[in-house]
Amino acid sequence: MANPIILPLKPKTQDKAFTWDDVTWVLLDMDGTLLDKHFDDYFWETLVPQEYARRQGLPLAKAREEVFALYQREEGTLNWTDIDFWSQVLDLDIPALKESIRHLIEVHPEAREFLHYVRRLGKKVILVTNAHYKTLDLKMNHTGLGRYFDEVISSFDLGTPKEDLRFWEILEERLGFDRDRTMLVDDNAGVLATARNYGIKYLFFKAKSSSKEEAEAHPEFVSIVSFRELME
Ligand SMILES: [Mg+2]
Repeated sequence: MANPIILPLKPKTQDKAFTWDDVTWVLLDMDGTLLDKHFDDYFWETLVPQEYARRQGLPLAKAREEVFALYQREEGTLNWTDIDFWSQVLDLDIPALKESIRHLIEVHPEAREFLHYVRRLGKKVILVTNAHYKTLDLKMNHTGLGRYFDEVISSFDLGTPKEDLRFWEILEERLGFDRDRTMLVDDNAGVLATARNYGIKYLFFKAKSSSKEEAEAHPEFVSIVSFRELME
């Protein structure tokens, strides 16, 4: 049996230690977890309001206010990440705008190393994301991360976001994973809470989601700043 990994940040919902021998399935979120969330923050909080202001002939402050109110309404739903929905609602070509800043898409330091690591251990490695297909394609093409995964699952495939218990039911039917031998790393505590309710055993909160923000540990979940903390 391998030595248990002792994590630096205190957990409330699970044992501090786990061993890789006990894990078969590694489920990983994309944005903020493997990829730097700065891309998404900049896109939705800066670029989209600017373009919306230009398109509608509004002052930037007013445009930001309107756009943010629209975002708020859709949080936790599939619309939230549905870029075709936003193209329509905002009257902007969202895929083209994303494409225009694709050079800002970055993989978190150590994420690639971690993916090599779990593959070497022979784990089943699955990307589970709420991202829309078009966003997923853009990011996988840009980063080349797709080759590390046994499967890439978008919530749009399953018809419901990760915040919904139903997502995990459908995912289990599809993959046949054992909840007791499954790990999930995500930067969204709402998603982790749903996965916990479903019974996924090893849950990790990615506390450093954007290179431009400070890491913030979550009070309810074991928090990691870097994937190195999960490597022996
Ligand atoms: Mg995320």
